[in-house]
Amino acid sequence: MKYPVSITTASGYGENTVAGALRELLAPLGGMDSFVRPGQRVLIKPNMLSAKGPEKAVTTHPEVVRGVVRLVQECGGVPLVGDSPGVGSTFFVAEKCGILDVVRGTGAILVPFDEAVPFPHEIQTFRRLEVAREALEADVIINLPKLKTHQMMGATCAVKNLFGVVVGLRKANLHLQAGDDKARFARLLLELARHLAPALTVVDGITAMEGNGPGSGTPVSVGALLAGSDPVAVDTAAWALLGLRADSVWTQRVARQEGFSGSSLADLELFGPTLESLRPPSFRPAREGDMGFGIPPFLRHGLRKSLSALPSADMEKCLLCGICQRHCPVNAISIRGNHLHIDEATCIGCFCCQELCPEGAITARQGFLLRLYDRWLAR
Ligand code: SF4
Ligand code: SF4
Repeated sequence: MKYPVSITTASGYGENTVAGALRELLAPLGGMDSFVRPGQRVLIKPNMLSAKGPEKAVTTHPEVVRGVVRLVQECGGVPLVGDSPGVGSTFFVAEKCGILDVVRGTGAILVPFDEAVPFPHEIQTFRRLEVAREALEADVIINLPKLKTHQMMGATCAVKNLFGVVVGLRKANLHLQAGDDKARFARLLLELARHLAPALTVVDGITAMEGNGPGSGTPVSVGALLAGSDPVAVDTAAWALLGLRADSVWTQRVARQEGFSGSSLADLELFGPTLESLRPPSFRPAREGDMGFGIPPFLRHGLRKSLSALPSADMEKCLLCGICQRHCPVNAISIRGNHLHIDEATCIGCFCCQELCPEGAITARQGFLLRLYDRWLAR
């Protein structure tokens, strides 16, 4: 079986440009009415990580949300727009990133993910998982990720965006349980995506993010929208479009190791321009964060500092706001006088601090052997 993934170009975020591009994008998949029937409650799940303007490329652009909301309404569906941001209330973040205006202007309904209920599917990676009630009660889920680098996972798109259905600080708790086992965390994301089974994913890759993502990277113009029903397949196309090595993105690496269908380009039926034709000339990935694979656990433990990347705060940028401290799942961060201290022995490398820092003050500092490995990869 082949997994259809449609790709189209869009020159910018003008309302008509995006609306036209979305129609073109969905045409090979049968149009929005293949996914939404009259009267259905449709949960649209953009990336609303934090309260940044759309030009920062941290959140799904409001025009992409508007275009999808309108298509759902044309099909007679009831659009609900929801997420659980990393920092701040859903209303506050939606207002800052422009999505609240779209919700008000279109008559969609903003649904903050406040109430967590047990996930009714068997998850092998963790004994207990709770997700937003809205995600389980919607008739249809439409996943609207932003295409970005991600320091912990390598990159984030369709599969990782669905982690937003985990409400509030429960996310930190799952990081805590996974510890520094990135493969286990990636497996959780894959299991979650498989069971949530969004009917459709539409990727906002018109402006993507490179470098220090997902919260503080650099916007980069890619000019692409991607869509498909299978989140793993959509991600496979997205990483190939950006020219990322499949093993540099943890969800992709684990999906391939565990035989997830849609994790290889050979599994896909692609519509639209070729992936190579849309590849940005010099896309800057997240910093290589780990070279622990293939290294025996006893050596890995002893050489951890040298083999992995750990967070480092730039005190020129840090305002000592304490957000990173409050969200660190293992309490590795403390503020001492006017200095931010990160206890490297306690840190599990989840990079929640880097993801949520509003000042972009936290970056990944690679250990010595990892730096050498990274140079070898780039040679
Ligand atoms: S590193 Fe960022 S989040 Fe942490 S205290 Fe400084 S400004 Fe706040
Ligand atoms: S210091 Fe940062 S990377 Fe380390 S565990 Fe805390 S939040 Fe995660």
